[in-house]
Amino acid sequence: MDINGSEVAWRFGAGNPSLEAASALSIRAIVHRLYGCVDRSNPRKLAPLGHGDPSPFACFRAAAPAEEAVAAAAVSGKYNSYPTAAGLTDACSAVAAYLSRYLPYELSTGDIVLTAGCNHGIEIMMAVLATPGANVLLPRPGYPLYEARAALGGLEFRHYNLLPEKGWEVDIEGVEALADENTVAIVTVNPNNPCGSVYSYEHLAKIAETARKLGMMVISDEIYEHCAFGSKPFVPMGVFGEIAPVVTLGGISKRWMVPGWRLGWIAMTDPKGILRKKKIFEAIIIYRGISVDPAAIVQGAIPQIIANTDNAFFTNAMNIMREAAEICYQKLKGTECITCPHKPEGSMFVMVKLDMSYFEGIVDDIDFCTKLAKEESVVICPGSGLGMENWLRVTFAVDPPLLEDGLERLKSFCLRHAKPQEAGDSVMC
Ligand SMILES: *Cc1c(COP(=O)(O)O)cnc(C)c1O
Repeated sequence: MDINGSEVAWRFGAGNPSLEAASALSIRAIVHRLYGCVDRSNPRKLAPLGHGDPSPFACFRAAAPAEEAVAAAAVSGKYNSYPTAAGLTDACSAVAAYLSRYLPYELSTGDIVLTAGCNHGIEIMMAVLATPGANVLLPRPGYPLYEARAALGGLEFRHYNLLPEKGWEVDIEGVEALADENTVAIVTVNPNNPCGSVYSYEHLAKIAETARKLGMMVISDEIYEHCAFGSKPFVPMGVFGEIAPVVTLGGISKRWMVPGWRLGWIAMTDPKGILRKKKIFEAIIIYRGISVDPAAIVQGAIPQIIANTDNAFFTNAMNIMREAAEICYQKLKGTECITCPHKPEGSMFVMVKLDMSYFEGIVDDIDFCTKLAKEESVVICPGSGLGMENWLRVTFAVDPPLLEDGLERLKSFCLRHAKPQEAGDSVMC
């Protein structure tokens, strides 16, 4: 009733169909719902194995010089204004120099666009590529923000497979079969979320050659750059930028373990200047200009964050991550109904397969994760959210004792829900 006593017919309502379609693809929504299922009266500590954010754990605390750089930027009073469109020049130039360390050519300040985290880079690229009729190739399993952002912008996406039996490499033949004259880009994630794999130099070269053959760019999501703790070193896709133009997406969220600082970048790792010639770079700047800016304070701190974080921080973090990945792999391997096709060697995740025939009263991976959250206060991301039904994505970016405890609870959950052995079974053994 309004002041005159009559009903007001409010004309607005939420129901944007593209937003609904995009949100159906959101992994955050799935994981959020699982956190909501946790029984808060359960005295056991919540084991958050559903999303990769090591920053709350003391053992993964950000490097002190990085925190000090942000504090110094804040109190300097120099970063209270709107930053310039692509990002503060000193910040872009520090990122260009940092990325150039690992490339056979030099990036310049103008090759870098700063973003509010890598997710913002994904948003920008999916919008820039959404020309009428275009399609992009996305990995399955993948990182669903690509699908969500493409859906929101009306960009068609097609899935190519990552092959578990080949260490989760890209199914190159599948990519070739999938692409057509409207395919504009292939997205790769290396080191890989959700698979925990790291691509070899040879495999990356093969992807670049395939992109060249098909006339598409590579969007290389390298938010886990250098997060490699197995036998294969991390190689940036930009190393192959002469073969096919590469847009590298990155940021400090994962390597520096500060996802809350919201600082990422888009780098034109394209020594032949094809992205510029095709006006992609211009479109990125235009989109960036009508989108958000990363906080100027963090931009202002970036040169010091990069310069002052010493190698000991990264080495130590990777040593703990290696230990955590080992615990995770061994525990999962020791759980009867779970198979792990590939030992994690990078990122913060591993994909494992559930044997659904083992259980009684559990219908699929979502049901499994929901009951697990309720009964054991362990949150794990169901594979369905990543295009892999009856798989699980487990993160090991968790304080190792809690990780171990969480995986023990996972195991007892599985045993408790196992189908009872039939009397005849033992005779066959
Ligand atoms: C975490 C993650 C991102 C998001 O990074 P932010 O910098 O936190 O936005 C992007 N891509 C992948 C594959 C990720 O795992």
